[in-house]
Formats: sequence, structure tokens, C-alpha cells
Amino acid sequence: MLTSEAIKTRARELQFDLCGVAPAAGFRELRVLRAWLDRGYAGEMDYLARTADRRADVRAVMPSARSVVVLGTLYNTDRPYSTEIDDPGEALISRYAWGDDYHDVLGARTGALRDWMTDRHAGPLETRVYVDTGPVQERVYAQQAGLGWVGKNTCLINPELGSWLFLSEILCSLPLDPDPPGLDQCGTCTLCLDACPTGAFPEPGVLDATRCLSYLTIETKGAIPPEQRAGLGTHVYGCDVCQEVCPYNDTAPISTDPVWQPRVLLDRPRLGELWLRSDAELRATIRNGPMTRVRVKRLRRNLAVAIGNSGATEAAAALGDDRTAVRSDAASIAEPLVAEHVDWARDRARRR
Ligand code: SF4
Ligand code: SF4
Repeated sequence: MLTSEAIKTRARELQFDLCGVAPAAGFRELRVLRAWLDRGYAGEMDYLARTADRRADVRAVMPSARSVVVLGTLYNTDRPYSTEIDDPGEALISRYAWGDDYHDVLGARTGALRDWMTDRHAGPLETRVYVDTGPVQERVYAQQAGLGWVGKNTCLINPELGSWLFLSEILCSLPLDPDPPGLDQCGTCTLCLDACPTGAFPEPGVLDATRCLSYLTIETKGAIPPEQRAGLGTHVYGCDVCQEVCPYNDTAPISTDPVWQPRVLLDRPRLGELWLRSDAELRATIRNGPMTRVRVKRLRRNLAVAIGNSGATEAAAALGDDRTAVRSDAASIAEPLVAEHVDWARDRARRR
């Protein structure tokens, strides 16, 4: 017989750090999304509005769903937090993006758990696997499954493991025994709200994505609004500040799983060194990793802005000041989007 306990045992064998079960229900927290969209906080992430109805309840995604098996995977590695780095020449890249693409890794592992559930169950069983990409508000279900709570920084926090967690889930047509929901343990703390470099939290637990560096460096397809470029600092891809300052991450355990360890060029990378790499080298570095999302062109766009902000001599020198120079191994630099940001960065560097 397929039980919640048996699923959790198998999940541990498949390298998941957390596993819990939530009922497939339309929880009150799921309804907040619509008001958040109406306030314009999603920016150009139109897919969220398009899928809002389905995101309001997993049963709109899979009508037979009775349970949601939620899985957590720790990806923290033994490198310093960006807030501990006092070097303007270092490129800041979100911790989750240093290794292999979690969609692929966890898609395979979550799929293996689903296959095991299907084999183990005698009767018909309908399932659906999601790793971040589906129309499922997975943090809400993760809290309902007892994995932790959604903090004021909008991340899922586990009291023992912290928030460096990838989430994945299996919608399942069996009414499995649910876990008790996780309890909010933020208390009176406001460290994440106070530390955000762009003031992206209009209120606790509410993120205005259009002001968040993760949105600006990853979701923005075209030009980064000029008035927001200085705020990027030396962040090249994403931002971890509101997680780094969270006390629950002070002693977050380290994962030794090879798939999350930083790739060579992403291990404490220097802005200037990354800029001087050819397009082919950058492409190879981000291949099969989360950063493929922005591709080389937008990575260069972000790098140019970060170099303009950096003030590090070696980074500014790498960007150079010859507007007509076109590198044959780095054609992306001549793309209009990149070239405009390079001009902005050179101008900013010159004014220092
Ligand atoms: S990721 Fe960075 S910019 Fe975005 S809300 Fe957190 S601290 Fe602010
Ligand atoms: S920093 Fe404090 S308020 Fe923010 S998520 Fe962590 S515990 Fe909650």
C-alpha cells in the first residue's frame, strides 16, 4: 500500500532532503496572487496572469488531485555569501545558478519518485510532476506540507535547513495522510526587508518584482531601465541578499552533491575575467545550467552594467573604451542591446 511514510522513505533514498504531503486544496494564501498581479508587481512576467486561475488551486491543473507531495532539496555550497564579499571586482551570481539546472536534475529525481509511486500502487494513479515551471504555487503547498513557512522575504524557510532549497512536487490522485502545516517563525525580525538593496518589499511578505534585482537581471528581456541600473551594483544574475541575512541561513547546512557545486568559471568569478571570455566560452559555461535562461546576450548586458557600477580598475579596463572595437570571438558585444549598456557602463566608469 502506498503511504505517506513509504513515500518519504523513498524520497530520502532519492536524495531529497525534505518531503511532506499537503491536501490538494484551495488554501487562502493561494488567493493572494490575484491582488498581487493587480498591483502590477509581476512586471513583464505575463505568464503569471495567464495562468492565475490555474495557480489558485492545483485541482484546476489536475481535477483528480487529492494530495500534493512536496520535496525540498538543499543546494547550499561552502562559498561565502555575497554580503560577506568586500571586493568590487567580483561578479555576484545567485547561489542556485552555480551548478546544473535544477529543472533537469530534480525533474529526473522527482520523476523517479513518481515512477516508484506508480509501481507501488496497485490501482489506477494519476500524477503530475512539476519543478518550478508548472502553474503551481509551490511555496504555499510546501508550507501546507510542513516543509517550513513562507517568510517575509517570500522564500520557503525550513527551521533546520534554512531557505537554500529547491522545491518540486507531485500532484497525486490518492488521498494520502497529510502533514501538519509549517508555522511562521519570522516573529518580529525584519532583517530581509531592511537589507534589500532596492526596497523591493512594499510590505512584509509582498515582493514588488519590478524592483527586485532577480527580476531585473533575469526576467527583463530588453533594456534594464536606466534609472535602475546603478541599483544593480555588481549583481550579474539574481540576488541572494534577502536570504543571506536571514538568521535561519546563518548555519545552513552544506550540500556536497556534485550537481550544485560551482562550475569553474562561476566559482568566485571576476567581472573583468568573465567579460573577456568569448561568446563560446560563456555559452559553454552556462550550458545545462539555470543561466541559459538569459543566454549570452543578456549575460553580457548584465555584466556591462555590473562593470559600470563596480569601480574596480581591472573590470573597467576589460570593458575598454574603444567603441568601434568588435571582437570576432564575442559578437554579442555588438548587439544593439549590449552595446547600449556598454556605452552606459563606460560613461559611468569615466565619471568616477
Ligand atoms: S532578491 Fe535582492 S533585490 Fe530581490 S527582494 Fe531579495 S534582496 Fe531585494
Ligand atoms: S530575515 Fe527575518 S523576517 Fe526575513 S524571512 Fe528571515 S526570519 Fe523572516
